[in-house]
Order: sequence, then C-alpha cells, then structure tokens
Amino acid sequence: MNNDFDVAIIGGGISGCAAFYTLSEYTDIKKIALLEKCDKLANISSSSKGNSQTIHDGSIETNYTAMKAAKVKIAADKVMHYALSKGLQNKAIFKMQKLAIGIGDIECDFMTKRHEEFKGIFDGLRFFTKDEIKKIEPKVIEGLDGSDRVENVVASGYLESWCAMNFEKLSQNFVEEAKKTNKESEVFLNFKVIKIKENASGGYTVTSKDNREINAKFVLVNAGSYSLPLAQHAGYGKDLACLPVAGSFYFVPGTLLRGKVYAVQNPKLPFAALHGDPDVAISGVTRLGPTALAMPKLERSKYLFGNMNGELLKIDFKIGALTVVLNLLKDSDIRNYVFRNMLFELPYFGKRLFIKDARKIIPSLKLEDLTYAKGFGEVRPQVIDMGAKKLELGEKKIITNKGITFNMTPSPGATSCLGNAEVDTLEIVKYLNKTFDIDRFYKDLNVVL
Ligand SMILES: Cc1cc2nc3c(=O)[nH]c(=O)nc-3n(C[C@H](O)[C@H](O)[C@H](O)COP(=O)(O)OP(=O)(O)OC[C@H]3O[C@@H](n4cnc5c(N)ncnc54)[C@H](O)[C@@H]3O)c2cc1C
Repeated sequence: MNNDFDVAIIGGGISGCAAFYTLSEYTDIKKIALLEKCDKLANISSSSKGNSQTIHDGSIETNYTAMKAAKVKIAADKVMHYALSKGLQNKAIFKMQKLAIGIGDIECDFMTKRHEEFKGIFDGLRFFTKDEIKKIEPKVIEGLDGSDRVENVVASGYLESWCAMNFEKLSQNFVEEAKKTNKESEVFLNFKVIKIKENASGGYTVTSKDNREINAKFVLVNAGSYSLPLAQHAGYGKDLACLPVAGSFYFVPGTLLRGKVYAVQNPKLPFAALHGDPDVAISGVTRLGPTALAMPKLERSKYLFGNMNGELLKIDFKIGALTVVLNLLKDSDIRNYVFRNMLFELPYFGKRLFIKDARKIIPSLKLEDLTYAKGFGEVRPQVIDMGAKKLELGEKKIITNKGITFNMTPSPGATSCLGNAEVDTLEIVKYLNKTFDIDRFYKDLNVVL
C-alpha cells in the first residue's frame, strides 16, 4: 500500500465525507485519505438511525436566535442545493411540511413576535392560526376526547420545504462523487486510529489499532465524539472536557403527523425541545424526540454498559469539568429535566412519562401509539470549556496551526457539513500552499454573496 498522502481525514461521518468531497472536487490536492474505524461510512451520529434527519436551517428551531438562524441557513442551503443538484430527491433529501408551534398565550405571543422577526430571513415563511393548523396538521389541535384542545395554538413554517435529509445517504454520495473526480484519493474502512504522531518529514504518521500507518502533511480530525480524546492524546485541547448527552427517540404511527412539528424551547434548557419528524428511512413512522440523557459513553451501543468509556474518564475527571456540571444542576429546571430524561429510558415507566411531554405536540396520543425506538439515537458530544467554566452548545474547533485540526460537531453538525468543509478547506490549502476554487464551489452550491 502506498501510504503517503497530502491530507488524512480521520472519521467517515458526514463531516469527514463532506471535507473529502470538497477537497477532492474543488482543490488541486491530489492524495487524500479518509480513515474510518467502522466497516461502513456514516455509521454513528450521521447514520439514518442516529439523528433527527432534519436540515436545521433555523426557520422552525425555536432555540436559535435570528443571528444564529441566519448563519445556519447559509450552511443549510449549501447542503440542500448539493443534494438537489446531484438528483438525490426522494433518495437522500425529502420535501415535507414543517411547523414551529406555540401553545398557550405566552408561547403564542412568543411565536407571533418570532415570526415577524424571522420572515425577513426566511423567504415565504408563513404564519398559521389555530383554524389553519387544524386543516394542515389536525392531530396538533385534536384533544384527547376528540374535541379541539382548549389552548390557543399558532405556528410559523412552510407547507412544503426540502427539509428532511438522510445524512447517511448524503455521506455516501459525497464519497462517490469525490472518487469520480480524484482517482488518487482513498477510503480506508476498519481503520481505527489510535495514534497521531509528528514525523521526520514535517507531517504526521497516523497509526491504526492493527498497526497500519498513513503519512500525511495535514491531518483533519472529524471523529465525532472521539475528536477530543484524539486531540488530548496529541497534546491539544487540555482545557476542554466532554459532556456526552445521548438522544433517544420514540416511534409513533406515521399517520399522526403530516410533517415536522417543533415546539417552543424553554430557554433555560440546553437541548432542543421535543419534536416530531416523519422518518425518511423507514416508511410509516414518525420519530418523537430526541430525549437528552447524560451518560458516560462516547458512542451509543445496544447494551447499557457497552462502550462505557475509559478515555472519557481521563478527559472528564477534572475539577473544572465537574464544577461546570454541578453548576448546571443547581438550576431546578435543568435538574428536573436531567432526571426526567433519565426516567424516559426505563422500560414500562419511560413510555408513561414520555407521553406527557409528547402530548404537547399530539394531545390525543395513546400509550399504544408509542414505541421506544431501540437502537436509534446517538450521543451529542457537548464540549465543556473549563477555562471559561461553561458548557459550549455548538461546534468546537481546535486549530493548532501545525497541520492538524480537530473538529467537534454536535447538532446541527450534519446540516453544517459543507459550511465546515469550506472553512477546513481554506485552512488546508493555505497550509499546503494549494488552491481552492471557491468561486466554483459557491456557484455549484448556489451561494449568493
Ligand atoms: C439524537 C441526535 C439528533 C440529531 N439530529 C440532527 C438533525 O436533525 N440535523 C442535524 O443537522 N444534526 C443533527 N444531529 C447532529 C448530527 O448528527 C451530528 O452533528 C453529525 O452527524 C456529526 O457528524 P460527524 O461526521 O462530525 O460525526 P459522526 O457522524 O459521529 O462521525 C464520526 C466518525 O468518526 C469515526 N471515528 C471515531 N473515532 C475514530 C478513530 N479513532 N479512527 C477512525 N475513525 C473514527 C466514527 O466511527 C464515525 O464514523 C443530531 C445528533 C443526535 C445525537
């Protein structure tokens, strides 16, 4: 095997695959290696089972400020245009209705004001009254006894939008397209990186668990939850820790909701409010979730005690990390939320508790409609900044300026994959003295400057 490459990307999830594509298609870098520990691409958070399959453009995500929404929309549009231009309609990208709903006077007031602010960012964003919602998403209005729920309900959203994505299929497509253009690039599956070391030629040698070696002038680490352990092994990011928060889903019959339904966020809570998302990989079911369960695992596995992580203990067993977590738990809203989410995982009781929250979206939901989606969901590797003593809720990047960069990409990392790939490509070409045809990248992805 010729093991000398210009760039090695560690991690074949959506972030790694998008970077592999962008570097292959739009730069003059010839030799790129994509190293993935699993036997297939996008098998962890980016798998069709792992996430909520949503292009989070900010229009209905009530936890985003207008500023964040405007930023996320640029990245979301890139992903949408990519999928449409490659003919992935109804294969990876799907069109459906999507609504953010406000329930009760306080939320209706919030949603009305939010709509006024957000319609300037989102062309064609529509406002819906309770009567209108009853026609387009009847189960949101129908109460337990069949009559309309008593509270007022309003919504902001779209009757049709390319808003659902199978990110696993998209990841595979990125790699297929990259290989069409750049025949010298290679994908290595079953390549679990255990060591990244500077070598004598000024680059890095990346070693796998089974002792294979890849040399690269630049290493981009897009290893999801494992990016931080790999960074700390290499001597970077020592001021960071990780709070892994698993998200699970419940299934309900697909006949209940016609499209995506998002609820108003409690601003105190760090994770997005429960939402309903028609599944695009399994027909006839809708996912409700994700829940938010802090657990000592960097990746979910089918067994409760499987994948418990020694690496994580090394990263997190520090006063700084514990202080941030304890400070969070001082707030009673957060504490209740954390314990409630733990109970959602319990057999028998979990479903009975979860239905109370789920009825906010579908008031007539019955216990027999709910099934715990076993094997679905993944871990969100939320980063704790021990220096700033806070939980970072978005993505985090460790730039070393030494030819190695580490990305941690919790939600909406899948939506931002091409936006992140653009940033990394700019850094890599500068470091390697190569060129990035960014005008063509923007033109192909319909980016209006
Ligand atoms: C419950 C849940 C719901 C979500 N919903 C959405 C959503 O609707 N929309 C959205 O945009 N985002 C969503 N997200 C976030 C999104 O799934 C992630 O941001 C995204 O998948 C991250 O992609 P990634 O490629 O960075 O990481 P991953 O998909 O986790 O990929 C990392 C890859 O690195 C590999 N790897 C790890 N360690 C090594 C190693 N040592 N050697 C080699 N390979 C290694 C892993 O096997 C994996 O394939 C959700 C996340 C969760 C958990």
